[in-house]
Amino acid sequence: MKRIYITTAIPYVNASPHIGFALEIVQADALARFYRAQGWDVFFSSGADENSLKNVQAAEAAGVKVQKWVDKYAAEYEKLRDALNLTYDVFNRTSEDHHFKGAQKLWSLCKSEDIYKKKYRGLYCVGCELFYKENELDNGRCPEHGTVPEEIEEENYFFRLSSYQDYLYKLISTDKLKITPQTRKNEVLSFIKQGLEDFSISRSNARARGWGVPVLEKEGSSFAKATEDKQVMYVWFDALVTYLTALGFGRRPGLLVQKNLRFGEGPLARRHADEKLFDKYWKSNPNRLHVIGKGIIRFHSVYWPAMLASAGINLPTAEFVHGYITVEGQKISKSIGNTIDPFELVDKFGVEAVRYYLLREIPAWGDGDFSISRFKEIYNGELANGLGNLVARVARLAADTNLSLPPKKNFKFKKEVGENLKQYRFDHALIALWEEISALDKKINEEKPWELEGSALKKSISPIAKEVREIAFNLSPFLPKTSEKILEQFTGKVTAQKPLFPRI
Ligand SMILES: [Zn+2]
Repeated sequence: MKRIYITTAIPYVNASPHIGFALEIVQADALARFYRAQGWDVFFSSGADENSLKNVQAAEAAGVKVQKWVDKYAAEYEKLRDALNLTYDVFNRTSEDHHFKGAQKLWSLCKSEDIYKKKYRGLYCVGCELFYKENELDNGRCPEHGTVPEEIEEENYFFRLSSYQDYLYKLISTDKLKITPQTRKNEVLSFIKQGLEDFSISRSNARARGWGVPVLEKEGSSFAKATEDKQVMYVWFDALVTYLTALGFGRRPGLLVQKNLRFGEGPLARRHADEKLFDKYWKSNPNRLHVIGKGIIRFHSVYWPAMLASAGINLPTAEFVHGYITVEGQKISKSIGNTIDPFELVDKFGVEAVRYYLLREIPAWGDGDFSISRFKEIYNGELANGLGNLVARVARLAADTNLSLPPKKNFKFKKEVGENLKQYRFDHALIALWEEISALDKKINEEKPWELEGSALKKSISPIAKEVREIAFNLSPFLPKTSEKILEQFTGKVTAQKPLFPRI
C-alpha cells in the first residue's frame, strides 16, 4: 500500500486564525483527500506552535497565564477542523509533555560536535523569532514587522549549520528534498550559496520567562540527567520537531503522559504510547511532505534538514511552498484591521464556497488576493451557474426519463486533475474541471435533449449524467460535501434536488 505523510506548518497561536492559514490547511487537506481517494495510507498532521516568546508577551499583556492563553487560541484553531471540513489525523500542540520529550530526544541525538556554547550579541525580533544582522534591517527596523529589534547578549547553545552547507546544496539541487515551486527552490539554493552561519538554538530561561522546552545537559548518549536548567530551546528548534512528535517520536511505552493528551478518544484517537506511527509514517515511508508558507522556507529547507541529518534521522522528501494572501489588495495586518475571519466567511457563504475560492482563485504557486466582490463573482459565476446549473439541468432531464445509473466504485482521477495535484496546482486542476463543465453545457445545448422523448432522451442524457458523476468524483479533494451530494444524486434513480449553490 502506498503511503504519505502530509503536514501543515504550526502557526503561533497568539491570535485567532486568519485566511492565510486557512489557505494552507485547505491545500493540505485537498492533498490528503486526493491520496486517500486512490487508496493510499495517509497520515495528516496539523498543530499549534506554543513555545514562542510572542505568546509569553501577549499573555503577559493580557494578564493571564501563558498556558491559559495558548489553550484558548489553540482551541480556536482546532475549531477550523469542523468549519473547513478538514481531515487531519492529529492536532499536535508543542506545549504538551510528549512534545517536550521528542524535542529533547532530537537534541540529544544531534552529533555532539554540532552543538556548542557561545557568547553572543545580536538584534532579535520577537515577532519573527529571529536574529537579524544590521544590514538586513530597514532603517534599524524589522523588515517584516517594522519594529525595532531587541539587542540581546547572552551565552547560548549554537548549532553548527555551517558544516552542512555542501550537504544541503546537494540535497536540494538534486531534488532529494524536492521544493516546489522552482522559484522557491532557487531562492533556497542562492541563500545556501551565500554561506550558512551557525545559529543559536537556545535562550536564557530568564528571557523566556521559564516558558519553553528545557535544554537537558547531554551526557554521552543519555539525556536523563537534567542539569541545564538555565536555558530553554530556541522556539524554532523545538517547533520543527512537531513533525516527528505528531507521530509519537520520543514516546516510550509506559512513559506516556496522559495529562495533556488531547485526542485520547474520538475520531482522532490514532496516537500510540510508542513510536509506531513514527516508524510507519516517517522512518519507513518514502513520502514525507511539508506544506508551508513562503515566509518560513529557510527554517524548513535549511535548518530542519540539517538538524535531522545531524540526528541521523531521515529528512522530509518534499516541501510545497504557497504564497501570501492580500485582502482587497493590501497586506493582512491587525493594525489595518483587514483580517478575514474564516469562521465568518463559512457562516455566510458555506464551507464549500470558501474552499473553492482558496483553491481556485489563489494561484497555488504564487501570491493571491481575497476580495468579497471577487468572492461573490466566483460564487455566482462558477458555483451557482457553472457547476450548480449543470447538475440541476442534467438531473431534471434524467429524472424526466427515469434514468437510473448503476453504482460505480472504481472512479479514477482525470489526468489533468491527477497531474496538477501531484504538482500542487490546485488552481489548474479546478480550471481544467470547469472547462469540462463548460464543454458538457455546450454539448447539451447542441444535442437539445429536452426536445427528445423516451429512449432517444435516455440515450442522449445517459452519457452526460455519467460524465457529471465523473466530475463529481474529481471534485472530492476540493469540495468534498458537494462531491458526495452529486454522487448520491447520480447513483441509482437520478432525482432533481434543490440547487447546490443558491445564488447570492
Ligand atoms: Zn520581525
